[in-house]
Amino acid sequence: MSKTLQSIRGMHDVLPADTPAWQWLETAARELLAGYGYEEIRMPIVEQTELFARSIGEVTDIVEKEMYTFEDRNGDSLTLRPEGTAGCVRAGIEHGLLHNQQQRLWYMGPMFRHERPQKGRYRQFHQIGVETFGMDGPDIDAELIILTARLWRVLGLKDVRLEINSLGSTEARAAYRELLIQHFEAHAEVLDEDARRRLHSNPLRILDSKNPAMREVIRSAPSLLDHLDEASRAHFEGLQALLTAAGIEFTVNPALVRGLDYYCRTVFEWITESLGAQGTICAGGRYDGLVEQLGGRATPAAGFAMGLERLLALVEAGGARPPAPKPHAYLALAGEGTQAEGLRLAESLRDALPGLRLVVNGGGGGFKAQIKRADRSGADLALIIGESELAEGTILVKPLREAGGEQQAVPRDGLAEFLRARIG
Ligand code: ATP
Ligand code: MG
Repeated sequence: MSKTLQSIRGMHDVLPADTPAWQWLETAARELLAGYGYEEIRMPIVEQTELFARSIGEVTDIVEKEMYTFEDRNGDSLTLRPEGTAGCVRAGIEHGLLHNQQQRLWYMGPMFRHERPQKGRYRQFHQIGVETFGMDGPDIDAELIILTARLWRVLGLKDVRLEINSLGSTEARAAYRELLIQHFEAHAEVLDEDARRRLHSNPLRILDSKNPAMREVIRSAPSLLDHLDEASRAHFEGLQALLTAAGIEFTVNPALVRGLDYYCRTVFEWITESLGAQGTICAGGRYDGLVEQLGGRATPAAGFAMGLERLLALVEAGGARPPAPKPHAYLALAGEGTQAEGLRLAESLRDALPGLRLVVNGGGGGFKAQIKRADRSGADLALIIGESELAEGTILVKPLREAGGEQQAVPRDGLAEFLRARIG
């Protein structure tokens, strides 16, 4: 026997037993976003490597060590997208969606990062991303947060909390950067290798470190919030007032900087304690400089992305599991002429009853085997046609889930009505 092949480490199949939960989550998000006027955009999964280097930042975990980058047959450097914002902005510029316009967009799909696989951290994972363009006030930041809070309610998630911070303007951040470098230089002995490497290229990123040995030096670092420019301070206060008015609880975490360079002003994360170390289920913020940085005209923008694997794990941890839809009926057929009649009948039932879930027996077999399959399918009813039913123009209907349910013969012409009453 030849060697069996396996999926790539950190990249998982979603099996039929699990797809109902995914579909339920995706449908809930899709309906909710439509309810706020957000429109779906679909971008390619592969982009030029340069797009990510120029947007996410050269000195970030993602670009330094997590990207799936390869040369295609033309020798062009391509990358499997590690996140969606860069591609969304690229598409918006390319198709003229951004200049002098307002856009509320969302997308859903796989992202790829070469990280160490563990619970809640995969190499192919899935995000729903939401991006807005052309709106610079804190009202849209608040809307993004309010709609995620509603999604958590729809999904029945309770154990989630919101952290927010402001990164200020580019100029304010540059001044703050110098203070940070001084602080970390004064404590160089506790910095790990990553932090030392980034000390002069990207010291803010050190605040994002999850290394417990550096917790204290990060806690004692000067706070960006004390060095915000006036406009950013007003923006941040505006956001807090809007969240409070909306009844959304939050804490301000001055160390929240996010792992991507393009953010400015508002950043936020929704965090749960129920999933262990991988507790951030949704993260985002404002990125007013990115459109221009990627060659478009300056356009204010804000957005977020949520990790679907972590959201589903949280749904599961809360004990809520959406039921898998079972067939309403399973059609069992045996005997001369019953296959043609069965397929015809099934199509006429589908015409009459939109939404009907009907499985037609495939692969033959006797009635006993077919009823066993019907039972295993989870169907509520078995519909049975043998030679005598065919001759009489009836269908034998056998309830599969009712204790003491009696089977009965239903005339062919009355079957659709019978099923309509039965399935509601
Ligand atoms: P983390 O700090 O957990 O590495 P991040 O800051 O890199 O997250 P973002 O790039 O902001 O994450 O992505 C948004 C969301 O996507 C995260 O909050 C998380 O829910 C999810 N996510 C990110 N990376 C992974 C991954 N490797 N596997 C599963 N989900 C992920
Ligand atoms: Mg990460």
